[in-house]
Amino acid sequence: MCGKLYVVATPIGNLADFSYRAVEILKKVDLIAAEDTRHVKMLLQHYGISNKLVSLHQHNEEKIAPGLIEQIKTGISVALVSDAGTPLLSDPGMPLVKLAKQQGVEVSPIPGACALISALSVSGLPVTKFTFEGFLPRTSSARKAFFLTKKDETATWVFYESSHRILASLQDLAEILPGDRRVVVARELTKLFETVVNDSLENILDKVKNDNNMQKGEFVVLVEGAVVNKKAGDITEEQKKVLQVLLQECSIKSAVAMAVEITGARKKLLYQAALSLNEVDGK
Ligand code: SAM
Repeated sequence: MCGKLYVVATPIGNLADFSYRAVEILKKVDLIAAEDTRHVKMLLQHYGISNKLVSLHQHNEEKIAPGLIEQIKTGISVALVSDAGTPLLSDPGMPLVKLAKQQGVEVSPIPGACALISALSVSGLPVTKFTFEGFLPRTSSARKAFFLTKKDETATWVFYESSHRILASLQDLAEILPGDRRVVVARELTKLFETVVNDSLENILDKVKNDNNMQKGEFVVLVEGAVVNKKAGDITEEQKKVLQVLLQECSIKSAVAMAVEITGARKKLLYQAALSLNEVDGK
């Protein structure tokens, strides 16, 4: 007679963004594991939910996860919530969910708000393929090193940023990426001062620098992927890596054919690159 772990998304600003099902589940479970019990009480009060709370945050989650899983195994149900949005997305919860899966405990999502998905949905950038980078390193040098690794990324990439670092992060980004790269800053989503700006990196930086309001609140930053320069006769580092791995296993012809499928780069460019890679390897 095993209970269940529910992973429940909560609003990211607008209290009305909470589903009927989420309210029902939070009323029904035996225990709510919350990132900040004082913070979640406001939401619970708003929806008339009174339930037992236990604190689960980044500093205690490894320690308390085993006990919670043992309780669920005896038949009780637990709901996991974070301060805002979907738990585990730059939020606590990973050790608990991981352990639940390892121990065969059923984990069920109660979907809802997430700043990442909300921002993507209104960004106007391609969303068929994207990478989520969470929060960036705090120091400028580490951030720039990270941006260098993303320079040739062809998919949209997204990161979370705080008001303390939004300007510094955009300044670092502008040192690494070309000024005409399209960037979206999504600020205070679902709240009174919601702002979504889609512009070139150069213009975004100007706007954030010259408008103090644009440095306040919570931010999601989205960066459009690099356009592969079809005339330059060159492939990106990422495409080259894919090709290198394939060449270790297959003939040039098959490696190139597969690399075209995987990376979308032009066959002719990949073929030229494959020939020169093989030459370097002395094949
Ligand atoms: N788990 C949450 C989610 O599902 O989006 C994110 C939690 S993370 C600790 C908090 C960060 O998410 C903020 O610093 C900000 O970057 C982003 N964020 C949260 N709410 C937001 C909002 N209303 N508008 C823009 N960004 C937001």
